[in-house]
Amino acid sequence: MKISFHGAAGDVTGSCHLVEAAGRRILIDCGMFQGSRELHQENAEPFGFDPTAIDFLLLTHAHLDHCGRIPLLAKRGFRGEVVTTAASRDLARLVILDSAHLQEEESQRRGRTSSRRGSDGDTEPLYSTVDALGSLDYFGRTAVYGETLEIAPGLRATFHDAGHILGSASILLEAEESGRRRSVVLSGDIGNAGRPLLRAPEPPAAADAVVMETTYGDRLHRPLDASVNELFQAITEAFGRGGNVIVPTFALERAQEILFYLRQGIETSRLPASMQVFLDSPMAISATEIFRRHPEACKPELLRDGKDPLALPGLHMVRETAQSMAINHISGGAVIMAGNGMATGGRVRHHLKHNLWRRESSVVFVGFAAKGTLAREIIDGARQVEVLGEEIPVRAHIHTINGFSAHADQAELLAWRAAIKGAETTFLVHGEGPTMETFARKLPPGRIEIPQLHQQFEL
Ligand code: ZN
Repeated sequence: MKISFHGAAGDVTGSCHLVEAAGRRILIDCGMFQGSRELHQENAEPFGFDPTAIDFLLLTHAHLDHCGRIPLLAKRGFRGEVVTTAASRDLARLVILDSAHLQEEESQRRGRTSSRRGSDGDTEPLYSTVDALGSLDYFGRTAVYGETLEIAPGLRATFHDAGHILGSASILLEAEESGRRRSVVLSGDIGNAGRPLLRAPEPPAAADAVVMETTYGDRLHRPLDASVNELFQAITEAFGRGGNVIVPTFALERAQEILFYLRQGIETSRLPASMQVFLDSPMAISATEIFRRHPEACKPELLRDGKDPLALPGLHMVRETAQSMAINHISGGAVIMAGNGMATGGRVRHHLKHNLWRRESSVVFVGFAAKGTLAREIIDGARQVEVLGEEIPVRAHIHTINGFSAHADQAELLAWRAAIKGAETTFLVHGEGPTMETFARKLPPGRIEIPQLHQQFEL
């Protein structure tokens, strides 16, 4: 059994690992590189392996940095089978098609720039909507948590709930080669226990090797309760001043969790029942519908009393642009959730334009905001920002709530790793260099590897 690392090696994005065993080539994830670097360039590079020679792609979950290069893989000749959970398959379809749309927009923008400069730069999108649709044909069998799938003779895969987003899994891969059994577990992204909608991560009992993410390998999260209180307080205060609350949010998971907390707030009378809530994001609405279709991937107690955990009395699902624009006439008493989370694009910018300058309103950031984004500028205390070509003074109350993380913290990562017995080697991926080094020092003695991009190991 061999393993090589073609993404998320010394980096937090672009997850892509290749296992060669029992005469087959199995890819685990094929994610997009994201962040401040020249994205198009890095994603367009050769994969570091032959896409036509891949037999299976096992997908841990539907975040873009784990599934975003699947259409490119198919475009470059992949003809194997994608195996994932049913919930991940539905979410991946949404994420991949949205990504194709963004790639097309981005390539048009590059085309305009290069024609202005008179150069003919590379304007082809990484992949088109047609490529994305084509790649969906390779999604084959679906995996059920805890049930072993014989994906090929001598090759078995078991998906274990990773508790990170709907349908997310850690994958145990077992191979038999000339009478010798070898196994490796690939963590995917590991969730944070105590989340409202998802079960806690369930690591496999044993494996010969472990490949694990280390995003927050150097820190501990604040308790979730404190974050929920902060959210309720921000809403109550803004409503008291006669303003609105804008929540820039990503479509997957966070949007559904916030809906769940708002419902909880109304049920416990900590938020007004008359509150109007707008989910102003077609993608978040689709993701919420996928959530409702997959109770098997959620906490069973959520659905026991037959109530919809994401239903709110004053909830408006806003798909149409005209409806979205109508929200601008509401001056107070509304919570407006819109994408995207870093305010780099999407409808949230219109709501910021109408509320940022108002002392009565609040903006609540509930997720990570990268450097150079509008969200980050506001979080860092800018007095004035440019929104949709206009200079807008920042007078609204700004809240940054960091406790809603979908990732395990250091203590949870260590507990997850400690639950897997018999592993000789631990590979650390999906983390920044210093974070992985800090985490490595916390692990019990044993062989620890921090792979370089395209590095290969014998297991
Ligand atoms: Zn993820």
